Amino acid sequence: MPSTAIPEFFSEFAKLGEDCTVPEGAVLWEEGDAAGDVLLLLEGGLEVTHRTPQGNIIVLGLLEAGAVVGELACFDGLPRSATVHARTPCRFLRISGNRFIEVLQRYPKVLSQFLWLEIQRIRHLTDRFAATYDRAITDPLTRLYNRAFFQDRLRMELSRAAQMGDVVSVVFFDIDQFKEVNDGLGHPAGDQVLARTADLLRETARRGDIVARYGGDEFAALLYGANSLEAYQIAELARVRLEADPPRSGADGRQYRVTLSAGVAVFPSDAPDREGVLKAADLKLYEAKSAGRNRVAASI
Ligand code: GH3
Ligand code: MG
Repeated sequence: MPSTAIPEFFSEFAKLGEDCTVPEGAVLWEEGDAAGDVLLLLEGGLEVTHRTPQGNIIVLGLLEAGAVVGELACFDGLPRSATVHARTPCRFLRISGNRFIEVLQRYPKVLSQFLWLEIQRIRHLTDRFAATYDRAITDPLTRLYNRAFFQDRLRMELSRAAQMGDVVSVVFFDIDQFKEVNDGLGHPAGDQVLARTADLLRETARRGDIVARYGGDEFAALLYGANSLEAYQIAELARVRLEADPPRSGADGRQYRVTLSAGVAVFPSDAPDREGVLKAADLKLYEAKSAGRNRVAASI
């Protein structure tokens, strides 16, 4: 963002600010330092980093000329929430936090320009947060939710169902003899089978159902409000649709028809809590496998 975009903002602060330059690599402040001043970056680039609770260093942002840096700690008085260092030689105006706030209070136009800068920043952070969150809850191969998200959501939905007196079905699906499919068709084709199965489960589920890749060739569905017959019917529909796919030819000339088995468990009739429901669905899946695969097991 060029500084010329908001001239009053910069010209007001140019009167008060101390013009400073720092070489590449200079650390302007460390996370945890006491707040004191605000910088208006005039030339160069800054990098803002943060240490996560796990101790990893992540880059929160790369700032260019026109950026305001360090203003949050001046407002709330808390320690710096990030480390800032110069990626290139930088020139900036340094203003004390108190003077910065005084100017904003005195000049409504400057205040509104500052607000505009902050809004741009919040929008940018919101986009980044959404993208990061999406990656954190999504299985990259199938684009289904991942296991951690499924478990979190199940915890939430079971507590809602307990309050409302509703039922929740959990269905575990597992591809039959997937090791053979992988060996016969090759790992990349195995990946395609997983992606196809995921699409089919997504299409077969009702709107609002949560379908996840639970691990390897195992998938899970959370069907809020579905009793065991309804859950059985959805799982059976998915099974029949996958079975109807044309067989795939292996390099050995063998034809591979992909099928899946499924197990259904219902809260609260099969188990009164999350662990119990997951275990009950897993037992049903095992029952379907033991009974010859390519089938759905449920207590109906
Ligand atoms: P069963 O009918 O008893 O389920 O037999 P199975 O051969 O399917 O046995 P299992 O479910 O234990 O095998 C899962 C296989 O899935 C083993 C592993 O090599 C394969 N697998 C796990 N993740 C991936 C993946 O991301 N891509 C591919 N292509 N294969 C995977
Ligand atoms: Mg399997």
